[in-house]
Amino acid sequence: MQEGIMELMWRTSHVSGGNAHYVEALYEQYLVDPNAVPDEWRNYFDQLPRPEGSTSHDVPLSPIRDQFYQLGKSRRSTQAVSAADSGENKKQVKVLQLINAYRFRGHQKADIDPLDLRSPVPVPDLDLSFHQLTNADLDTEFQTGSFFLGKDKAPLKEIVQALDETYCRSIGCEIMHIVDTEEKRWLQQRFESVRSKPKFSPEVRKHVLERLSAAEGLENYLASKYPGTKRFGLEGGESFIPMMDEIIQRAGGYGTKEVVIGMAHRGRLNLLVNILGKSPSELIEEFDGKKVIERGSGDVKYHQGFSSNVMTPGGEVHLALAFNPSHLEIVAPVVEGSVRARQDRRDDPAGDKVLPINVHGDAAFAGQGVVMETFQMSQTRAYKTGGTLHIVINNQVGFTTSHPDDTRSTEYCTDIAKMVQAPIFHVNGDDPDAVLHATQVAIDYRQQFKRDVVIDLVCYRRRGHNEADEPSGTQPMMYSKIKNHPSARALYAKRLVEEGVLSEDDAKAMGETYREDLMAGNHVANALVKEPNTELFVDWGPYLGHEWTGDADTTFDMKRMQQLAAKMCEVPDGVQVQRQVAKIYEDRRKMQAGGMGLNWGFAETLAYATLLDQGHPIRITGQDSGRGTFSHRHAVVHNQKDGSTYVPLQHMADGQPRFTIHDSFLSEEAVLAFEYGYSTTAPNHLVVWEAQFGDFFNGAQVVVDQFISSGETKWGRLCGLTMLLPHGYEGQGPEHSSARLERFLQMCAEHNMQVCVPTTPAQIYHLLRRQVIRPLRKPLVVMSPKSLLRHKEATSTLEELAHGKFHMVLADQGKLDAEKVKRVVLCAGKVYYDLAAYRSEHEREDTAVVRLEQLYPFPKEELYEALKGYTNLEQIVWCQEEPLNQGAWYQSQHHMRVVADMLHNGLGRELKFAGRPASAAPAAGYMSVHVEQQRQLVDDAFNA
Ligand code: AMP
Repeated sequence: MQEGIMELMWRTSHVSGGNAHYVEALYEQYLVDPNAVPDEWRNYFDQLPRPEGSTSHDVPLSPIRDQFYQLGKSRRSTQAVSAADSGENKKQVKVLQLINAYRFRGHQKADIDPLDLRSPVPVPDLDLSFHQLTNADLDTEFQTGSFFLGKDKAPLKEIVQALDETYCRSIGCEIMHIVDTEEKRWLQQRFESVRSKPKFSPEVRKHVLERLSAAEGLENYLASKYPGTKRFGLEGGESFIPMMDEIIQRAGGYGTKEVVIGMAHRGRLNLLVNILGKSPSELIEEFDGKKVIERGSGDVKYHQGFSSNVMTPGGEVHLALAFNPSHLEIVAPVVEGSVRARQDRRDDPAGDKVLPINVHGDAAFAGQGVVMETFQMSQTRAYKTGGTLHIVINNQVGFTTSHPDDTRSTEYCTDIAKMVQAPIFHVNGDDPDAVLHATQVAIDYRQQFKRDVVIDLVCYRRRGHNEADEPSGTQPMMYSKIKNHPSARALYAKRLVEEGVLSEDDAKAMGETYREDLMAGNHVANALVKEPNTELFVDWGPYLGHEWTGDADTTFDMKRMQQLAAKMCEVPDGVQVQRQVAKIYEDRRKMQAGGMGLNWGFAETLAYATLLDQGHPIRITGQDSGRGTFSHRHAVVHNQKDGSTYVPLQHMADGQPRFTIHDSFLSEEAVLAFEYGYSTTAPNHLVVWEAQFGDFFNGAQVVVDQFISSGETKWGRLCGLTMLLPHGYEGQGPEHSSARLERFLQMCAEHNMQVCVPTTPAQIYHLLRRQVIRPLRKPLVVMSPKSLLRHKEATSTLEELAHGKFHMVLADQGKLDAEKVKRVVLCAGKVYYDLAAYRSEHEREDTAVVRLEQLYPFPKEELYEALKGYTNLEQIVWCQEEPLNQGAWYQSQHHMRVVADMLHNGLGRELKFAGRPASAAPAAGYMSVHVEQQRQLVDDAFNA
């Protein structure tokens, strides 16, 4: 057969020209690894002459490639005269082109729309005439080439029929955009060898019908009991339930131990009850409004997450449905982060044991940018999870728009997935056998190639956006069709009865049994494990139920600390360190030896070293995390000789916890969501996301609003994520000055997160340590510095690190006579150093400068302690670099006034402001304006 194909290629200039690159690529692949190419090609290449004495591996590619081409050329020229005009050969080529056309464009003709509303796209390439073939050729036998028909030759009509069945029925395959030949061939084989219609056993098909009955039964039950109540039903997309059932069972068979699912509201209750095994009576209680919220503010029922264990052929599998806000698609990277944390915990870098599934809506998949970001992260070192199964519940109506002209510019809602060459299977939701096949191929593909794959479940939405919504007002044509359209279950039951798989009575009984179970409050999920193995997931017990406290014992044995400090500065001899980096490491060695004040980079690195030593894994990501945006960290050393990297913190001790540091790709939204997912799954870790500049977090504002600030109160999900956000007015302009402190403070309530502005190396050291040493898990937002990283006054001592703590308030550091102090300037952050310089320059002994290092939870007692000695105090000034309408002023002044009044009544009213005037932009764009503003605000703090 292989000879046949090759001969064919050489015989016509058109084909050999068109396939030359393909063959060349295959050949190069073969030269690198003969086993990487299909057998027939390997046999062929093995026979090619090669330079004397050489094997396939010891010659450079180019001469052998030239030889290969010469061979092709000479064959072409000798055969041209005899074969070019041979009609039979030309036709053979056309047949191969027809096969290719089906593989490329068959999906456009496929029967994937249950409602048959899809406007047909003309696909001339699939007509015989397009390839200069006619009906007269139908009985002629042709080579089948690479088409998996099970034979080398077949009559054209058989080839066409097989192509039509494979590519133009209930599954529309998009796989030809995949560059990797092995993957593409694997996929072609899976569809072509069974013509996209494997023969499932009667048992399998009955099980599918049973799951479809469950999907439909739940919706019917809720519709009759709670008509008009919002539940975002699955009706129209019921095949989703047997699909999920199959994924979990098959994945379990592969040895998967955990499955994490992200999903928006449509069909969520159905998934919860029929797949995850939420108790129907609990759901009913929620519908009846009887469920009592145990903590916080709670959330609507179709946003709730859930966890359970089910039994599969490979053993027990833990399922986790992520909590989800209404903001569509944002849960996808959260799921990825959670999955990566579980994979890290299981030491499963390939992603064999934990499977991410993201379920999407068609309009959101096409419309939301975070989908693209999530795909982009799928193969990167920091974020990959061994491939995600994406399922689009494509109801063809989106939210209100159904016309593709309004919904998107791409042909399919799934086109975005092509950017990572994910295979895409569009499948008709009314054909559960086809759904099952597409599902099996998808899960097998993920398992085999560890890449993302998409199932586009083309279905419809029987009701409106929600059950209170009347859809025909805006979608008259679609809904007049839907009204008379039988359900997927009804259609499948009819088919199985017709095919003799079961009787009509049996089919009916399935629905009735389900309803009885539901009414009895029984669990209705498949293979639910009643007493789950808790070792399959993390024990959050030690972190639950702690009231907020700022105190933690972050001290550390001095001797051990010095050993760690020495170790974290070691770089092996073979690593040639760049000059400036070498200087940083040299300085750190001096700091460790006590010959130099400790700077920020040293203290921060030592915080990591000591936490690792105490058994806490660490994960740090951000756009410049390895180096630090302002080059203070250099946790990753780049060997100048060969570009390899060395991470000293990964070499602290044998068997140490994982230290992961990655430069992220250029995303804020998806990466922050990912780290949220990671930290809500890995309580023992220090998880840090660092913004390049603080305000860039606003590209991920939804993650802060919907998850970080409110996840605990809405869902009871604890999160210990740390965000390092460079902040400080240094004349760099509107986008490089402010981490929008005011935004975070405005979201603070109920001790939901911590907002801190550390100003010394010892402070960041203890702050980072406090975040993990305490069993309390709360998000930590750090306004981290830029110029302070190197400020000569911003240094600390080893003593302060070993024996100190994080001070929420730093009292005045000067040697003032407390009785003479008339004014206190309160501040946070880098402006402190400007204020301190002013005071010493102007010898202002009447003014104390006190730093608030934590703005939320506001440290009232600590501030009172810092101020109470100033018995003759007349005025308190809050000084900030930020404009009046920004920074902490409006958000925190009420706390300051309370403390002022604790000192003496009425002082709170005297609280004054010194800062930049109100401004629409965060900072001035001109250095001269910045400098003058800065001078003025410091002056105001002392004199206004
Ligand atoms: P999961 O593996 O996500 O299903 O989590 C297993 C169990 O751990 C959940 O049912 C919760 O009880 C608990 N849990 C998981 N994540 C958190 C979290 N971030 N905060 C508090 N408890 C959690």
